[in-house]
Amino acid sequence: MTHISFEFFPTKTIEGAEKLRTTCALLSKYKPEFFSVTFGAGGATQDGTLSTVLEIMATGEQAAPHLSCIGSSKSTLLSLLQQYQQHGINRIVALRGDLPSGMLETGSLRYASELVEFIRQETGDHFLIEVAAYPETHPQAKSPAADIDAFVHKVNCGANSAITQYFYNADAFLYFRDQVQNRISIPLVPGIMPMTNFSQLARFSDACGAEIPRWIRNRLQHFDQDKESIRAFGLEVVSKLCMKLIQEGAPGLHFYTMNNAQPTIAILDAMG
Ligand SMILES: Cc1cc2nc3c(=O)[nH]c(=O)nc-3n(C[C@H](O)[C@H](O)[C@H](O)COP(=O)(O)OP(=O)(O)OC[C@H]3O[C@@H](n4cnc5c(N)ncnc54)[C@H](O)[C@@H]3O)c2cc1C
Repeated sequence: MTHISFEFFPTKTIEGAEKLRTTCALLSKYKPEFFSVTFGAGGATQDGTLSTVLEIMATGEQAAPHLSCIGSSKSTLLSLLQQYQQHGINRIVALRGDLPSGMLETGSLRYASELVEFIRQETGDHFLIEVAAYPETHPQAKSPAADIDAFVHKVNCGANSAITQYFYNADAFLYFRDQVQNRISIPLVPGIMPMTNFSQLARFSDACGAEIPRWIRNRLQHFDQDKESIRAFGLEVVSKLCMKLIQEGAPGLHFYTMNNAQPTIAILDAMG
């Protein structure tokens, strides 16, 4: 059976929190291996990550906080890890993160690999550690080969599983997997971003270096404000991508839900 996981971001409003509860309840029916909650992204407070994780866990589901090291001291990271341990959290998504604009202090740890080392050094085998992977190469990497070497090194520092940045070109994932599969022995899980809104997707994709292929971009642009056509086209493209990845042996799928249940549910239902 394919493992699935769902990613949320912490909300800042009462309405957002209420919606997230409903989203979580709807997605729980698909028996995910875990939910994950982003950290520091979108200006949300770090407390929001922990409280969201605890709320999910209170419903009986597994939940993993993301933890990014950039801009943080080792003592801050250690105290977060200790809080997570005290709350019985045993899975974590370990990232470097990106410095918010205007912030210059990089913190004690420069790369996610150093965070993985730090987590292992301080907490032994307590946490299952997920790390990020970039089938289309991380935008700041010196070269695709250097990015792959850095990824393999990060895995060797003690990661248990990797989740990829989203992509719409299955070959990018398959090629990346071919390049790393003899060098790592952990699952490489594709990250899946449902398509619902072109301008938002284009903005994210430009920022994180994920390509929207021209044939998809063209169609989405021409649908303009026609939400129903975007929804139907996005569903067709992303559910076919997911099916291809599963046929090709992907060990699971991690959905970037953007806190919305329906686009992800539609994909899972279309896949049967
Ligand atoms: C599944 C997933 C979840 C995410 N969740 C969050 C989140 O919750 N919050 C958030 O802020 N961001 C999140 N991000 C975004 C992520 O923080 C950014 O993509 C960030 O720019 C890189 O993080 P990383 O952990 O991949 O970094 P790293 O693995 O450290 O890599 C960053 C860059 O450094 C290079 N590099 C690594 N090691 C070395 C080395 N030793 N020498 C030279 N270069 C090196 C790599 O090639 C790469 O270019 C997420 C991304 C993914 C894929």
